[in-house]
Amino acid sequence: MFGPGEVASVLVTVNVEAPYSYRVPEGMHVMRGSIVEVPLGPRPTLGVVWGAPKDNFAHNRLKDIGFAFDVPPLSEELLRLVDWVARYTLNAPGNVLRGALRVREALEPPRPIIALRRTGIEPERMTEARLRVMDALSDGMAWAKPALVGASGVSPSVIEGLERAGAIERVTLPPPPSVGLPDPDHAPLDLNAHQLSALAALREMPVDRFGVALLDGVTGSGKTEVFFECVADTLRAGRQALVLLPEIALTHTFLDRFSARFGTRAAEWHSDMTPVQRARIWRGVATGEARVVVGARSALFLPFHELGLVVIDEEHDGAFKQSDGVNYHARDMAVVRGQLNEARVILSSATPSVESYNNAETGRYRHVRIDQRHDDAQLPDIRAIDMREAGPERGQWIAPALAREIFATLDRGEQVLLFLNRRGYAPLTLCRACGHKYQCPNCSSWLVEHRFRGVLSCHYCGHEIRRPDVCSNCGEPDSLVPIGPGIERVAEEVADRFPEASRVVLSSDMGSNAQLRDRFAEIERGDYDLIIGTQLVAKGHHFEKLTLVGVLDADLGLAHGDPRAAEKTFQLLTQVTGRAGRASKAGRAYLQTYHPEHPVIDAMIRGDREAFYAHEMASRRETGMPPFGRLAALIVSANEHDVAMNYAKHLLRVAPQAEGVKLFGPVDAPLSMVRGRHRVRLLAQSEKSFDLSNYVRFWLGHADRIRGNLRVQVDIDPMSFF
Ligand code: ADP
Ligand code: ZN
Repeated sequence: MFGPGEVASVLVTVNVEAPYSYRVPEGMHVMRGSIVEVPLGPRPTLGVVWGAPKDNFAHNRLKDIGFAFDVPPLSEELLRLVDWVARYTLNAPGNVLRGALRVREALEPPRPIIALRRTGIEPERMTEARLRVMDALSDGMAWAKPALVGASGVSPSVIEGLERAGAIERVTLPPPPSVGLPDPDHAPLDLNAHQLSALAALREMPVDRFGVALLDGVTGSGKTEVFFECVADTLRAGRQALVLLPEIALTHTFLDRFSARFGTRAAEWHSDMTPVQRARIWRGVATGEARVVVGARSALFLPFHELGLVVIDEEHDGAFKQSDGVNYHARDMAVVRGQLNEARVILSSATPSVESYNNAETGRYRHVRIDQRHDDAQLPDIRAIDMREAGPERGQWIAPALAREIFATLDRGEQVLLFLNRRGYAPLTLCRACGHKYQCPNCSSWLVEHRFRGVLSCHYCGHEIRRPDVCSNCGEPDSLVPIGPGIERVAEEVADRFPEASRVVLSSDMGSNAQLRDRFAEIERGDYDLIIGTQLVAKGHHFEKLTLVGVLDADLGLAHGDPRAAEKTFQLLTQVTGRAGRASKAGRAYLQTYHPEHPVIDAMIRGDREAFYAHEMASRRETGMPPFGRLAALIVSANEHDVAMNYAKHLLRVAPQAEGVKLFGPVDAPLSMVRGRHRVRLLAQSEKSFDLSNYVRFWLGHADRIRGNLRVQVDIDPMSFF
């Protein structure tokens, strides 16, 4: 506790390495974790009291803390998490803290809601607009002004006029009801024998101690139902729980399942909420009112005081790695937070990351398996279609064998999913006359045609042009041809070949989150015969009538030199084929491939998951790749290629020698230009036991200062190699 006249160090939410000292003014008391506003340069800045200053200061030179917010201080664990993430990812602690406090609204006390209702006095002068307002209020309820404006379609001045005329009055409403209290005993399911033994294994981890388990169960085995029971245990023990999901699109169905089990919705946390909604959840978590939060990776930095369980659903998913700003991996940091909080951590997946799989195999994590689907549903029968011998006809993307299966499935009244992980109509547009290819002016990437919208679009920077009628290079009319398929083009073929079938096209750019949610609900109801989608439909969803999955290009993810390509492809193919036959009917999946002998495809067809992991682990061990070694990527970028390359070469020259560290590069990144910036990559590889973060910090500390538009981005444990 720091009282008036004492000096406290405050970490401000800007790009700074260490806290600054401030004096506590008259009448203020703060402690470690208190959220305050302090003067910094011209503006007041948000900060958090970090502790006592290390040095002695001339007190009279110090500025005063401006203001202390009336919210509970951040917990010790959260402060230590901020330090941990900053140290590990090589970010300034102030930056990490800013990410954790990006809810300015939450710090102000919730504003009372002013609402309007009728007084019973009729206005002397009645206009049509006034009548509409009075009609809207005829139910006698009090309405918030924006809602009243919306319902009556009048301008706010009409409402103000009625207020002056004494026909309506203001009332103050109590703050809206906060999140409900989940009841651990509301409606537990009867778990099957496999699920019960998995639950028993998870329960071997005490609720008040740190422990990590990998809940490794095939798609449709009921992992969610199992970890719900751990959430219930956590609630009974009086602690809070956090469930992280990789995709906003999954939140809605998940919350419905949560309500069915616990009698009320969990608190939601993701980017698709208004600042006011987020503020309420943030405060609810801080005060302990919110017991369970379901959200995106940033929920890891919410101000829990009693966190007892973190679940990472689909833990293998790349979306848990934040790639802009602070490069942290939410799965790994969840384990850190679990350790700091003495909380349990459950990593759930049907296709664990090779990292987690290895941790489970070596006994660092508890390995809890469910090998059977619920209700004896069978895993799908997976087959390859060798595109070299049995590929589709020219101009088509669906091979004859798959087309036959589609007809048969539709005849039985069941659903089909056609999967292609490529948005838009065609990945490349070419002029037949001069050979010109449409490229993004800012990025080294082709423009993707989106036919529905009539544009060519860059998937990296968003640059868009209208699809031209004449070639912009040679002026030839009607000469542009699309090369290769995207899902819109597949939809066209489907309309042509299966005209009777009702169909829906689904990818992340197909509307708002609310619209996507509606589409998913329609699919679940069985409204469509044919679903054509990207990875958005591969994850988590449970479509009862879906019995056939066709993967149109199973090789797509294997093409590039990404060290994780095999793992990512295996996970995606397992997820998407796992959508088939989740209920009583048997499911089938077809993989269209040019490489049926590839270890990933081979393991898929034989249904031999362990063969894939064995093969992948052996090759990673041999090459010292994670999880048997560590990686750190340095991405040097600048407006001119030479500037980036020369600095990268300089970095290589000044790199400290250390045993067991190998450096690769510099090379132009596979995506060598993004948004007009040239990108050059360096890669450091070390042994597992080596502190690579510390090495890179030391290294950059010895390099020339970064000037002008040059930038160096550090990515510890990189997931993406573009
Ligand atoms: P996973 O996450 O392992 O793919 P889910 O938890 O989504 O599997 O379960 C698949 C489906 O089976 C869901 O609709 C779920 O409600 C149902 N289910 C799983 N276990 C049970 C159970 N014990 N009783 C009733 N339904 C269950
Ligand atoms: Zn671009």
